[in-house]
Amino acid sequence: MYDMLTIDNQQITILRSWVEEASDVVVIAHRNADGDAVGSSLAIWHILRSMGKNVFVVLPDGCPYTYSWLPGSESIRGGERQQDECRGLLLSADLIIAVDFNAPYRVAALQEALSEARCRKVLIDHHENPAKEAFNLLFSRPEISSACELCYWVALSAWGPDAIDRTVATCLYTGIRTDTGGLSYSCNQPSLYEAVAALVARDIDPERLNHFIVDNYSVDRLMFYAFAISQRLKIFPEHKFAYFYISLDDQHRHHIDSVDIEGLVNYTLRLQQVEVGALIREEPKRIKVSLRSKFDFNVERIASQFFNGGGHIKAAGGDCVGMTMKEVMDKVENVFLSQTR
Ligand code: 5GP
Ligand code: MN
Repeated sequence: MYDMLTIDNQQITILRSWVEEASDVVVIAHRNADGDAVGSSLAIWHILRSMGKNVFVVLPDGCPYTYSWLPGSESIRGGERQQDECRGLLLSADLIIAVDFNAPYRVAALQEALSEARCRKVLIDHHENPAKEAFNLLFSRPEISSACELCYWVALSAWGPDAIDRTVATCLYTGIRTDTGGLSYSCNQPSLYEAVAALVARDIDPERLNHFIVDNYSVDRLMFYAFAISQRLKIFPEHKFAYFYISLDDQHRHHIDSVDIEGLVNYTLRLQQVEVGALIREEPKRIKVSLRSKFDFNVERIASQFFNGGGHIKAAGGDCVGMTMKEVMDKVENVFLSQTR
């Protein structure tokens, strides 16, 4: 026997009334949106639209092309050319629902508008250490697999099973599928399988969806992975550590986008000897660091202590600004080769 996931009833009552009172709603997720960010924001968008709300999804850099097949993705606002529009939407909203991130800095250039907006702000998220002061109502559950799973439980509690139709279920399944690597990590809670079973029962087609979610590489992307694994991977078996380092030049030469690199870091953990892995990736204005761990080693602590970031115990990220690739590589090696496991 186990307990079903419960969501605080009082909070649900507040959410329900805030949504009822609002007419213009913005749903916002983090920069470099992944399947969980796109899936959870679109799921909430569909639910609120069905209630007749004037609702917008804002993603700081728009919808990544890998999720452009998700229903409603064409309506997503974001990217450099729509920054002003996004700011305007945030500042004039009656209600902001933030999903899949824990602090305003995670929306990059939209941080100021998000903080300045005077309306009520709701957070539905599963990252560690939420910025409590930035939101008026928090559904923050770091033990839950994904924002999509949490949105499932919150929506079910607030608006009942009929609010989760096939379209909503498609979006939610996508985020659960991506944030758990196909139920292979963050997958120890029975309630996760309850949620998946309920979504599959909405007549979605998980087999087909998995092909859209996973089997979507361009030839360039697959060739880039071969290059990265053979030439940009450093392995330290005695420290149970390995990391990739990818420069902007590597990305340009292989004609790949930043979303194409998503998932590469997980290959470090495929190595039997490796328990902690990292990916260092150069971006135009910063160097991004992604961290993953197999067992108990807490990479969230490392991300927040050394890389201005955060995330989850076993998957976290952050960045270095104003440093060269070589300096970041040295820093990563210093940090990880001095940690005992
Ligand atoms: P990734 O390395 O794939 O970008 O992110 C791994 C996990 O850590 C994701 O859940 C992501 O949302 C989170 N994450 C990545 N970068 C940051 C960051 O700078 N701050 C926080 N709080 N979480 C992050
Ligand atoms: Mn997530």
